[in-house]
Amino acid sequence: MFRSEPEVLVVGAGPVGLFSALTLARRGHRVRVIDKEWRPAAHSYALALHGQSLELLEETGLLAPVLAASRRIRRVSFHEGDTRIAGIDLNRVHRDYTFVSVLRQDVLERILVEALADRGVKVWWNHEMTQFEDSPDGLEITIDKLSREGLGYSVQHGEWVVAKSRTVRPQFVIGADGHRSRVRSILGAGFPEVGRTRSFAVFEFRTEAELGDEMRIMLADGSLNLVWPLPDHYSRWSFELTDDEAPTGSRIKDRSEVQLGGVEYPLIEESALLEFLRARAPWFRGEVDDVRWRLLVRFERRLSTTVGEGKLWLAGDALHMTSPVGIQSMNVGLREARDLAIAMSDVLDGHADHSALERYRADRETEWDFLLGMDDRTRATASTDPRFVPLVNELPSMLPASGADLVQLLGQLGIERTA
Ligand SMILES: Cc1cc2nc3c(=O)[nH]c(=O)nc-3n(C[C@H](O)[C@H](O)[C@H](O)COP(=O)(O)OP(=O)(O)OC[C@H]3O[C@@H](n4cnc5c(N)ncnc54)[C@H](O)[C@@H]3O)c2cc1C
Repeated sequence: MFRSEPEVLVVGAGPVGLFSALTLARRGHRVRVIDKEWRPAAHSYALALHGQSLELLEETGLLAPVLAASRRIRRVSFHEGDTRIAGIDLNRVHRDYTFVSVLRQDVLERILVEALADRGVKVWWNHEMTQFEDSPDGLEITIDKLSREGLGYSVQHGEWVVAKSRTVRPQFVIGADGHRSRVRSILGAGFPEVGRTRSFAVFEFRTEAELGDEMRIMLADGSLNLVWPLPDHYSRWSFELTDDEAPTGSRIKDRSEVQLGGVEYPLIEESALLEFLRARAPWFRGEVDDVRWRLLVRFERRLSTTVGEGKLWLAGDALHMTSPVGIQSMNVGLREARDLAIAMSDVLDGHADHSALERYRADRETEWDFLLGMDDRTRATASTDPRFVPLVNELPSMLPASGADLVQLLGQLGIERTA
């Protein structure tokens, strides 16, 4: 093998791919990160970091810039109409950081890209993994460099063409290539639905109204609605669409679409926002100003039928999709990135055998069975508010935490985990 060959190829430069690459680079490994897009995410999708993620960022020396750009959330509250029906204090978990840090996903990605550059790892944007071969001589992966140059169009109108192809021979591949993962399909894995799909009308706007340090969940006629306060007086509101407001209905959907990362999302008329606020968040009496984001997003719950095998392993959205409420895909994804990178690093350095990766698999399976409400171990107790009983299996995905922290937060609602 040439000295310049990467030991690990990371496919996908979302937060999960970037964090796994950084963990490997910090351990002295040669890592190559590719992404078929031409730049990091242009908008904030996943918008908050759990306390546990803040500790991971502290380990990598990135906490200060993250905290400087973020707003702190210390509580989660549940509302029905005008009434607050329950509250959860995030500061009751046993951590150094007992709050959730709200910041734009693109800001986080920029911080990670810069930290990688400081270690001499430059992300190869516009590079797509297109072919894969695993022979007794090792992996052989074709990467195409995509270009719009020479077409004479502006970026919006250009077509991508393959400007150059090259082959790399890494020892491992991390598939952090999102929910349409190519690495997952190379593994031959399925990505079945494992729970209820929810569609949300999502809006971001500015308001002078004080939303405090709470993420609020509004229960209204069987629908789930939420608001996250964001920095600079903005907030993100997500209203679940009930059956009679189906995504194809004309009432809330106009003909416009917005393209994000190769996927088209329908835009929602601004007037629908006021209707939603009146019906689902009657406690909110603030002004609505500068609606900067309004679209309709479907959130499926899916879990890959494999976590990985041999030299190919998955992390982040490539492995799972869940409800956006608890921001778990990205936050648990960051932990997966770190754990997978450390397992690979230990194998590469001869400190561990392949069982390190098998442990990663077992941990992922156990954790996602819990988060997706599939293990039947989350139970209501005598002290659970009856309004939460039908939600017991969904509540784990609705709180901004995972692992023991999540068990603690569920306990505040009188919900327990059985052995
Ligand atoms: C519109 C929208 C709204 C969302 N809202 C929320 C929310 O409110 N809360 C929440 O928790 N989460 C939300 N998410 C999900 C959240 O963005 C992800 O969980 C988060 O980005 C972590 O993802 P990741 O790094 O695993 O993958 P991604 O961020 O999806 O990154 C995967 C990367 O892989 C690249 N890639 C794919 N295939 C290839 C290939 N063959 N070769 C090279 N590169 C490739 C893609 O270009 C992409 O950049 C939202 C997502 C979208 C799209």
